[in-house]
Amino acid sequence: MPNATCSLCGRQADTEEAPITWMTSLENGRKLLYCDQCARENVRSIEGKLDSAWW
Ligand SMILES: [Zn+2]
Repeated sequence: MPNATCSLCGRQADTEEAPITWMTSLENGRKLLYCDQCARENVRSIEGKLDSAWW
């Protein structure tokens, strides 16, 4: 198993499991990972996407 890798910036975690500060997002059935930095920068658009998909 490869280490957890950020889907946006390609940053790799030290472990296979994403650190607790990272964010996971399911998009079109694919699991995407965002590192803490990208999660902070993209939390609004990610949440917006989830909301529109949910409703
Ligand atoms: Zn990142």
